[in-house]
Amino acid sequence: MKIDPHANYPTRECPGCAVEVPANENRCPICGYEFPARGPLHRNLIWIVALLLILFLLPLLLSLR
Ligand SMILES: [Zn+2]
Repeated sequence: MKIDPHANYPTRECPGCAVEVPANENRCPICGYEFPARGPLHRNLIWIVALLLILFLLPLLLSLR
């Protein structure tokens, strides 16, 4: 069995120096570029806000008809 070091963990390309950085690293070890924090919590927050907007707007739209 061949072990590929890149297959074990996800990587992302640094926009500063085009080096593959482990996805769990928030800062590039080569050039020090800081990746913008985009965790699953932030994504959930957007969905909760969108859902609340729909819940508030839907009765409003229905009452306008
Ligand atoms: Zn870099």
